[in-house]
Amino acid sequence: MKSPSQVGAFEKFSANRLFDGIERNVLNEIRPQVSLLRVRKDDVIYREGDRGDFLYLVGEGVVKISQLDRLGHAETIGYVESGNFFGGRALLETKPHSAMATAAEPALLGTVKKKAFEKMLALAPARLHVNFLRAVTERLRSINSRFMSDVLRSERLRVAGAIANSILRDLKNPISIARCCSDLIAAETSNSELHELSTLLGGAVNGMVATTQDLLDYAHGPIALKKQHVSIWRLLDELNQQSLRLLPGKNIEFIKHIRYDGNMDVDLARFVRVLCHLIRNAYEAMPGGGVLRFTTDRVHNEVVLRISDSGVGIPPQLVSTLFEPFQTTTESVGTGLGLAIAKAIVEAHHGKISIASVPNKGTTVDIRLPSPAEE
Ligand code: ADP
Ligand code: MG
Repeated sequence: MKSPSQVGAFEKFSANRLFDGIERNVLNEIRPQVSLLRVRKDDVIYREGDRGDFLYLVGEGVVKISQLDRLGHAETIGYVESGNFFGGRALLETKPHSAMATAAEPALLGTVKKKAFEKMLALAPARLHVNFLRAVTERLRSINSRFMSDVLRSERLRVAGAIANSILRDLKNPISIARCCSDLIAAETSNSELHELSTLLGGAVNGMVATTQDLLDYAHGPIALKKQHVSIWRLLDELNQQSLRLLPGKNIEFIKHIRYDGNMDVDLARFVRVLCHLIRNAYEAMPGGGVLRFTTDRVHNEVVLRISDSGVGIPPQLVSTLFEPFQTTTESVGTGLGLAIAKAIVEAHHGKISIASVPNKGTTVDIRLPSPAEE
């Protein structure tokens, strides 16, 4: 005799996709073959390499399927939600599990032993085979498309790195000529305006090379930083020269809230390029003008820099993938590499970058960096 709670619990499994199209009276015969297993969040249901002894039905909760990558990090392959099932392949093949299953949240599972599964197959062979095959095919298709997009992305990145490399090589000559000319102009004249223009020209040329170098470093990874101790004011000065002074011409009001004005340990040139890119994303999002705010804060042991705009915003479903390479909504002007490179550079500083956005209201990017050591 099953206890009343178990009888009730089976109802949660009778709607499982494994049983699609199976009649009630057959389901009643299947019922005794299903045992209950309650798992807590993060409980391991099986590990990669464990023997496949059971098929699992998910009655409540969600189960995460993951695999170890070459470096031994668990990589999520997918989630099995209530109403679906997993673990059947190893059972059928009598092979060890090729992935690990963990409870992503508290879950109620129905477990079916090999013998019981065979009994079920005998009760409703046609439907069960079809349901099983359909689920396996769907899973294969989703793994396949995930695998293909990973392969394509890393291939595109490899090509982007190769192109950056060749651009850097081809730019060497014209860049030395531009630098020489700008140095000559500065040396030959006492006109202060020309001096300033030649400094600007030198800065612009260096910026072009550096941006290409950033792409190359990102494609090859990891990024080697040249950190220095700089004040927020120095950072703002650089930002002003390279980017902020363009804002009035774009009808954008710049407002700064400097609530932390101490120092930071950063690779100044790289960090300024990250911020310039974020500022550029912000003004691209405000084609008709708007407000751009730059805030600095110190929260506990972190320096927080925030750039927010009053632009078009980002649809919620896009926010979680923006830091992945080649994610762009502006194919014609952008490459979708800006935020991916920004993330890699911020993380090389042991910092974090996050983005929050409300469509038609604006976007806020936060960068959190560990406070400099001696402050
Ligand atoms: P790109 O600018 O080359 O498209 P990014 O990595 O810089 O690539 O940004 C990726 C995408 O994120 C952009 O295409 C845009 O859709 C969105 N995005 C980034 N910043 C903003 C912002 N401030 N406001 C609205 N959308 C943004
Ligand atoms: Mg961009």
